[in-house]
Amino acid sequence: MKKNTIYFLIVLMTVSFVVQAKGLFQELIPGQNQRGNQRINLIFDCRGMTVAENAVCLKKIPWILSLDTDHVFFYSKSGLKKAGLFQIEPFKSNADHFNFWFVQRTQDNPAEGRCGSDPLAEHVPFSNAILVSLCNMNSMPSHATLLLNVLHNKNRKNAKVIGEIFMTARNGAVPPVMAYNFDHEMGHALGGLSDEDKKQGGFFPNCAPSMEAANRWWKKTGLVPQNVQFVQGCKDNASVIAYDNTIMKGGGFNTSDVAVEDYYSPVHKYWICKNIFDLTGAVQGACRHFEKFGLDRPLYSP
Ligand SMILES: [Zn+2]
Repeated sequence: MKKNTIYFLIVLMTVSFVVQAKGLFQELIPGQNQRGNQRINLIFDCRGMTVAENAVCLKKIPWILSLDTDHVFFYSKSGLKKAGLFQIEPFKSNADHFNFWFVQRTQDNPAEGRCGSDPLAEHVPFSNAILVSLCNMNSMPSHATLLLNVLHNKNRKNAKVIGEIFMTARNGAVPPVMAYNFDHEMGHALGGLSDEDKKQGGFFPNCAPSMEAANRWWKKTGLVPQNVQFVQGCKDNASVIAYDNTIMKGGGFNTSDVAVEDYYSPVHKYWICKNIFDLTGAVQGACRHFEKFGLDRPLYSP
């Protein structure tokens, strides 16, 4: 074969693969997503379900996101609270920095419900992707990873998947609980935040190793007002968190008594906003407050 023909075939094969892979990913809200812009791509995937279960699972996603007023729900322990991610700052005023996709399953595949590393990851055609796997499992704690090395690597233009979230979404899982878990997991997956409970947490940037470090990170920088009393938190007895009972402390839907405006503390918001800025080149609304600290470089380091 002539050299040109070989090149042509390689190009043809590459193009047809990309088209096939793109066909897997459908817009959650037709017309909402923008290509070519710098956006963060949230990709939902209901796994290990029958076709019918998959359809039920997909219907829960708009409630978890709560982007539009038709899909905002409330939960109550002490008063009504909005729980969907995009009803809460800093996500609420930065929704325009996100695209929303889902993967349409056309056949039953219970084996995928194991929810291990995602076979989709290598086919994702978008950069700045966070994979959200909603898995058909009875007992699996939600968890998430932020691929920090990817996010902060100067060569990250080549990196496509920046984070992964795994959540239980069996038929009985109700949207308020799923939304609460999702808010927490997005703190991990986009903010790079640690758990703040004493069993599991945590490290930089939201668990300080000592009161001295906490003062240096949060009060000296002005990120947290001087009159805030820091509290013990995270795994190590000596470690310190800026605010108690936030969404990163977890503790579950039934036990948490967090005011919705305190879901993410100023420390959490700064890192979420910083990462939105890193990935998309701009921030809006609630994130503008943090511009004075500089979003193009870390305000403090470990
Ligand atoms: Zn967690």
